[in-house]
Amino acid sequence: MIFADDISGQCHAECAVCFEDLCAEPVALFYDAEGPTGKRVCQHFFHAACCAELPGKFCPLCNQAFEEPRTLPGPTEAPRQWFSMVDFDQSGGLTRVLC
Ligand SMILES: [Zn+2]
Ligand SMILES: [Zn+2]
Repeated sequence: MIFADDISGQCHAECAVCFEDLCAEPVALFYDAEGPTGKRVCQHFFHAACCAELPGKFCPLCNQAFEEPRTLPGPTEAPRQWFSMVDFDQSGGLTRVLC
């Protein structure tokens, strides 16, 4: 069992837009639609502020088109929502995590 706090504490990933530590600021994920039907288009994370400055609605790493960047809540503020957003394949387990 992996807890959210363990993951955030071990995160050393960088934002591919600004190359700063991903954990230094709120991060966002890319969704293919607004609202509850939206699904993540890829498994990449960027700062929410950096997403807002992207020149187009494409993931800078994998070029997947997205419709809406959604900011990930802090794992301690909204652990359930955090987990459901991070759990990419909805398997109930963290097969791929932030870093
Ligand atoms: Zn950034
Ligand atoms: Zn991507």
